[in-house]
Order: sequence, then C-alpha cells, then structure tokens
Amino acid sequence: MAERADALIIGGGVIGASIAWHLTRQGRKPVVFDRGLLGSGNTGRSAGGIRAQFTTETNIKLSLYSIAFYERFKEILGADAEFHQVGYLFLAVTPEQRKQFEARVAFQRKLGVEVSFLGREEVAKRWPFLVIDDVTGATWSAKDGFAGPYEVTIAFANAAKRGGALFHEQAEVTEIVAERGRIRGLKTSLGEFSSDVVVAAAGPAVPALVKPLGIEVPVVPYRRHLFMTETFPGIPDGIPFIIDSGTGLYFRKETGGIMMGMVDKSDPPTFNTNVDDGYLEKLVEAALTRVPLLEKANILNGWAGLYDTTPDHHAIVGAVDEVKGLYLAVGFSGHGFMHSPAIGAALTEMILDGAARSVSLDALSLNRFAAGAVVEETNVI
Ligand SMILES: Cc1cc2nc3c(=O)[nH]c(=O)nc-3n(C[C@H](O)[C@H](O)[C@H](O)COP(=O)(O)OP(=O)(O)OC[C@H]3O[C@@H](n4cnc5c(N)ncnc54)[C@H](O)[C@@H]3O)c2cc1C
Repeated sequence: MAERADALIIGGGVIGASIAWHLTRQGRKPVVFDRGLLGSGNTGRSAGGIRAQFTTETNIKLSLYSIAFYERFKEILGADAEFHQVGYLFLAVTPEQRKQFEARVAFQRKLGVEVSFLGREEVAKRWPFLVIDDVTGATWSAKDGFAGPYEVTIAFANAAKRGGALFHEQAEVTEIVAERGRIRGLKTSLGEFSSDVVVAAAGPAVPALVKPLGIEVPVVPYRRHLFMTETFPGIPDGIPFIIDSGTGLYFRKETGGIMMGMVDKSDPPTFNTNVDDGYLEKLVEAALTRVPLLEKANILNGWAGLYDTTPDHHAIVGAVDEVKGLYLAVGFSGHGFMHSPAIGAALTEMILDGAARSVSLDALSLNRFAAGAVVEETNVI
C-alpha cells in the first residue's frame, strides 16, 4: 500500500524547502522529493540577490515580506542565511531610463520601499571605480543585498526535519496521480505515496510533470551564466549588487572575488546548462567598459543554470482549478530565491486555510493567463 503523508512536495530547492518548513510550523508532516540533492537545481546556481526594487505591487510585497524575514532569519530558523544588506544599485544610461527610474522610485516608495534616486555625481562619489560617462542616474536601496541560497535551503530543510518533514534525495517523481479531478499521490523511484495535497515546486520540470493531467503551464527555461573572479582587492568589499541597465551586466562581491552575470535576452529557450565560453567574452567586454579596473581580475570559474520564466515575469503560485489538491510554485523568472520566505508562508496558508494572508497570491494564479489578467514585471535581471 502507498505510504501516506499530509502533503507531498516535488522539488527540494529553496521553494520546496521553504514550503515544507512553513507546513511543519502548522503541525503538518510533508514529504519532499528531489531527483538530485537538496539545493542542487537552480537554487545552488543562483546569485542570491534580494531586492525590493521591482515594478509591480505583487513583486514588491513579496520582497518586503521576504526581506523582513531574512533580517530575522537566524532568530527564526537558528541558522545563518549569510544575508549581506549591501544594497542594489541600478544604473540608468539614457534620458528615457532616467525618467523611468524616477517613476519607479516614486511607485516603490509609495509601497514602503526605502529607495532613492541618485544623480550621476553622487554615483561617481560613492563608487569611484565605475565609469559613469553615459550614466544618467541610478536607483539605490540599502535594504537590498544578497544571501546564501544553499545556506537558506539547508536551514529551511533542517528546521522542517525537526518539525517532522521527510526529505528524500535522489528520488525522482515519475507521475502525479489524480482521479476524477482530485489528487491521489505520486509515483516515484521509491514507490508510491498518497496524499490529498501535492505541491509541484520542481522548477523548469513542472510543465512536463503536470502536462499529462491536461494542465498547460507557460514556463520556459532560459540559460543564465555566472562567473566568479579570483580574490580581487582592487574593488572594496561591501559594494552593492550593481546592475548596468545599458548592457544587462550585473556584479557583486563575494568572499573577496567578483561575481558577474549578464542578461542576454536574445538567448533561445533551452534546458542546456553547459557553460558557453562565447558568452564570457561578451560579459568581459561589458564589464571592462563599466569597470576598467577589472582588467586585472582573473576568472576563477563559471556555471550556468535555468530561469524558469513566465510571459509576465511573475511566478505561478497557487491551486489549480482542474485538479483539487494540486498546487503550483513555479516560474520564478529569476527571483525565486529572494521570494522563497513569502511564497512558503502564503502557499501554506492557501493549502491549509484556502486563502493566503501574509501576501496576496491573486496575481500569481495560473488562470490569469486565460483570463487575460496579466501585469508584466519589467525590472527583470
Ligand atoms: C544564474 C542564476 C542566477 C540567479 N540569481 C538569482 C538572484 O540573484 N536572486 C533570486 O531571487 N533568484 C535568482 N535566480 C533564480 C533562483 O535560482 C530560482 O528562482 C530559485 O532557485 C527557484 O527555486 P526552486 O526551488 O523553484 O527551483 P530549483 O532550485 O530548480 O529546484 C527544483 C528542484 O526540483 C527537482 N526536480 C525536478 N524534477 C523532479 C522530479 N521529477 N522529481 C523530483 N525532483 C525533481 C530538481 O532536482 C531541483 O532540485 C537565479 C537563477 C540562476 C540560474
């Protein structure tokens, strides 16, 4: 007979781990499956960035909830998230962007984000290693920063285990079982498990997992690279997470080296996570233009992962109309790590009480696409 659980979670990334912990806080004992190791998917490849500088109320609220959580992470979970509130600095490089950025700041401030618009001279004074000839202004929030994706995932998982959750690693879910519009359980490489609740938090693998149930999830995988330099004292520790809105280059400092990535919106969708060296060339060119000092830095290593991207760059989180008991937590479009505390809290409320309270999940429902109720997030890295 199939083993029974309060809830079955597919995916042991930061999202699955956060949901598992939040469920245990309400006395539930979920079982989590990951076909690899905990955090070994896209979570472990993430830049760990955390920011409230978004353009929609939904994303800003998810961020504000999550930043407050990260600030108290150790107190809540008894482990260090390695949260460094070094700030995020977005550089505008055209007069149009400057206007857009000023409007963004006004909107974000209205929602309670501590963010300001900086003129070019201020940017030059505070971060003299940046070439600012083309910079028309910047937005800056000291409350943003980065944390350790692996540390956060393991902290959620360990706390969930203490609360009675079970984590099965190297255990692949092969089928979501539903009958007459209701969830029955899962078929996995460890056998069958039954439950009235299944959460699909398997990142880019979710669309293929739910398709046999007749559910179309508009999530497409895009490859994103990150490169790390050797220790580089030429740029001070504690610099912000800096985003060049001209080229899409972004970088920050970690353990003495510089972590760099770049958005290339011309990349086609793919599940390939091999490193493309041609990409490094483009990134280095953008980096040297903005920070010529980096000429002296040596690349130590690089890796790539997938953004599970939706058409409007908002996640898909919540119940699925067609199958009672099935919940989705997918399509984080590059901001799933930062939002994992809010998503875990809100989805748990929805599962147990029928509605999210901590943050609204209304704008994240799957049926927004069919209903044409889509609002696009435009500040995407
Ligand atoms: C290069 C890069 C940089 C990023 N930078 C940031 C950032 O700065 N800030 C931020 O917030 N986000 C960032 N992200 C996005 C962030 O990493 C993701 O949004 C987040 O990790 C999503 O977590 P997840 O748990 O949904 O997915 P994942 O971590 O991918 O976890 C899904 C898990 O499901 C498992 N799985 C899949 N199929 C099955 C199956 N059939 N059975 C069992 N298990 C299965 C996988 O093994 C995987 O471990 C970045 C991503 C990349 C690639």
